[in-house]
Amino acid sequence: MTVREGNLQAPTRHPVDWRNPEFHDEAALYKEQERVFDICHGCRRCLSLCGAFPTLFDLVDASSTMEVDGVAKEDYWKVVDQCYLCDVCYMTKCPYVPPHPWNVDFPHLMLRGKAIKFRKGEVSMRDRLLTSTDAVGKLATIPVVVKAVNKATASPAMRRMMDRVVGVAADAWLPPYAERRFRASAPASLQWPVRDGSRAPGKVAIFATCYVNYNEPGIGHDLLKLLAHAQVSYTLVASEACCGMPKLELGDLATVEALKNRNIPALAPLAKAGYAILTAVPSCTLMFKQELPLLFPEDADVKAVADAMFDPFEYFVARERDGLLDRTFKRALGKVSYHIPCHSRVQNVGQKTREVLEWIPDTTVNTVERCAGHDGTWGVKREFFADSMRIGKPVFKRMEEFEPDYISSDCPIAGRRIEQGIVQGGGERRAVKAHPLTLLRIAYGLD
Ligand code: SF4
Ligand code: SF4
Repeated sequence: MTVREGNLQAPTRHPVDWRNPEFHDEAALYKEQERVFDICHGCRRCLSLCGAFPTLFDLVDASSTMEVDGVAKEDYWKVVDQCYLCDVCYMTKCPYVPPHPWNVDFPHLMLRGKAIKFRKGEVSMRDRLLTSTDAVGKLATIPVVVKAVNKATASPAMRRMMDRVVGVAADAWLPPYAERRFRASAPASLQWPVRDGSRAPGKVAIFATCYVNYNEPGIGHDLLKLLAHAQVSYTLVASEACCGMPKLELGDLATVEALKNRNIPALAPLAKAGYAILTAVPSCTLMFKQELPLLFPEDADVKAVADAMFDPFEYFVARERDGLLDRTFKRALGKVSYHIPCHSRVQNVGQKTREVLEWIPDTTVNTVERCAGHDGTWGVKREFFADSMRIGKPVFKRMEEFEPDYISSDCPIAGRRIEQGIVQGGGERRAVKAHPLTLLRIAYGLD
């Protein structure tokens, strides 16, 4: 059989067969890793994407055979540890993804490795804690606790201690916790007549996300103001837990399933009742749109939720195309350096945030589409922090050299990391960091 280089068909993605006992079989994993690593060694397109590929190629180049068969299997784990499941290699680079017969799905192969490590108990308390965003957020935002937590994470001495004892990098900027959670402070929606469009429904359900709920409620409030301005009624999802993305990155698939079992019963009735479901954090949107359907392909409710899930800017563009969104702006933004995070890129919805920002008169957008290096919890771990800043450096530079009035990323955590990179790189910090939803709210002149 002749095997062509590259696909001529649109990529598809196979479900993750994680309930098959072979998925957790280490010998089977090594066999599949050797097969895929050999293809990657012959290809090397992804060299600059992250640390996983250089780690693999260095291992190959240093081996006695200079081929994958010369690399010790135990060293494969070094590659797994460098992957933070951004999905960019699969979605934007690899010509050998299904339906190509070579069937390369590098991120899900790394996920399999992480799942095996997790089952073997090879996961630190630090990693369990960092990925428990909901539980930690609930605790940290208790009124009498929140001030103490924020004081501790802002204290250099405390951070050095956390670095030494827990393994959270002392130099990584951590987001403070909010004194009022988003879900507790969100105002009820005015009730507007529902105007469904052909591209997007005319009523919205908000999945707050742990980050917006506990760390930056202002982003959620900006989204609500934008919906009110667009005369779209909204409701908060009645109850929610973490979307499960941090636990996926840890390989803890049982907890991913438990979280799915808490979220989907609240979300599916909304999806079936014709709501668009919006989340303001790209990783959480991606979890519902892509990862849960691949983990639970038999679950019709998961599919219904995935179909109803929108990135907020994807939603606003759809409303505009339906002729249902006002494009009258009151304030120009000037120069905006805008970063597209990996988990937005791989949603395959196009550059919707850039498109909306470019509607605003007297606003110039410098778009940077590259990994900023934070990647969930990966970039705050002591052993990866330096790598993470190195990965983000080209982004910091391209954002800064535009001399922007604002720096912005759909991913609020990446936005923080970019601000840190610019400041620590000697940038003048004249730019204001603001989420794109905040920028849109400012441009509309909404208080
Ligand atoms: S998913 Fe992202 S981090 Fe993982 S190997 Fe691919 S590009 Fe690298
Ligand atoms: S993931 Fe695909 S594109 Fe990237 S190095 Fe491997 S084979 Fe090449």
